[in-house]
Amino acid sequence: MNEESALNLAREAKNKFPFYRWLYNDMDDYEFKTYSDLPTFSRDEISIFEHTFDHNYFEPLQINEPHFIATTSGTTASPLKVVISNSDIKKFLIPFKETLHQYFGEHNIASLPLHENLSNCYSLMSAMGEKVPYIIPKAKSSDWESVRSIIKQYEPLVILDCPDNWAKSFPEGMLSSLNVKGVVMCLASKETMERIGSETKIVTMYGSLELGCVSALSCPINQEVYHIFQRDLLLGILSNGQYKSEGTGELIATVSFRAFPFIKYSNGDIITLYDDSCTCGFSGRSVIFRERKFSIKLPDANGCNVNYHDIYKSISSEYGEGIIMFYLNVINKNGIKHRILAIFIENESSSRPSLASDLAVKAADVGTGMDSCLRGRIMCGDWSSYAIISIFVPKGSIPPDPAARKKRIFVNGVANAVPSEYNPLIATLENFTNYIVESSVQ
Ligand SMILES: [Zn+2]
Repeated sequence: MNEESALNLAREAKNKFPFYRWLYNDMDDYEFKTYSDLPTFSRDEISIFEHTFDHNYFEPLQINEPHFIATTSGTTASPLKVVISNSDIKKFLIPFKETLHQYFGEHNIASLPLHENLSNCYSLMSAMGEKVPYIIPKAKSSDWESVRSIIKQYEPLVILDCPDNWAKSFPEGMLSSLNVKGVVMCLASKETMERIGSETKIVTMYGSLELGCVSALSCPINQEVYHIFQRDLLLGILSNGQYKSEGTGELIATVSFRAFPFIKYSNGDIITLYDDSCTCGFSGRSVIFRERKFSIKLPDANGCNVNYHDIYKSISSEYGEGIIMFYLNVINKNGIKHRILAIFIENESSSRPSLASDLAVKAADVGTGMDSCLRGRIMCGDWSSYAIISIFVPKGSIPPDPAARKKRIFVNGVANAVPSEYNPLIATLENFTNYIVESSVQ
């Protein structure tokens, strides 16, 4: 897919969908001279459109084949509904399969049952003539003796574990002893990589529901680099307001293979995009994920993504009342602005401040009502580690509250800046995270 065909797609979309007519603000076709003339959009524009006109952004879409509507997690912006048809899945699966073949050769795949919508993939794969992967029933997934005998019987070269709740607990060295060459997962922690061992290659995915589930797979040699295998996806970046086809900036994507096309859409990721012939044999476009530019939108702001009251309730039931939460604008060491929820907890056993990453994950789970595996699978990134920060501080670190608020949550700060009595707490946060706190969020 090139810029010229994306431009034609935009012209068609403008005639077909009220959303694009609204987005292009009645621009005439002659104003669309180049792809970079087209405005970009994000979930914010979709929210505004839906709020203003009171109907889904993809109406009046008509699809004459099986399809379903998937909803994104809503962790980085308002939840977004995405229409996915069987042909969409097919268009995703064909290059996905080809890339795995390129990485590992012809193979069998063993898999855990996926999310029910994605399990459609398997029936489609069989319709496409692909050998149906062996699916290990969930009930057996932690019964390692059964898993071992199933792997011995089917001899899969690749294990597909999209929800990531399986590979995380493989017994050490089990896969290499069974000659499994690769595991495909959403995220792989250092710990998981160590346990799986260097003889089994770990391939992770990059993408999102809007970008066609998985758009790129990590290089089997260099995990940091993702090779873009999806040919019907045009990726570029926005840097200082300028659209460019390569470099570092905000991801701008055109997804043409969906019944409702996404044209110059930003999902908020900051990436580096380049053309390359890689030592693994892949040649084409590659992407390095830098970070996610996003806002945690709380119920009192636009949209409802993180329920901070639930987080407060859950943490206070465990740690008592010595808790204070701040909703903050921060700048990280790369100059990227974020919004974060910083949670300070006075803790008996803490003689000096300490960062609690497990608690951050738990808080994110409670606040979104989704478990971290599911968030990880959908977002292909675990934002709880940098958007919800939990810090244990010694007793007496949180200044007494003169207003005697029942809950000490600064989500719509009275002042732009955090009140000065909290400066020592803010300094603790800055020491731990490389963030510079700009202000509390109004
Ligand atoms: Zn490579």
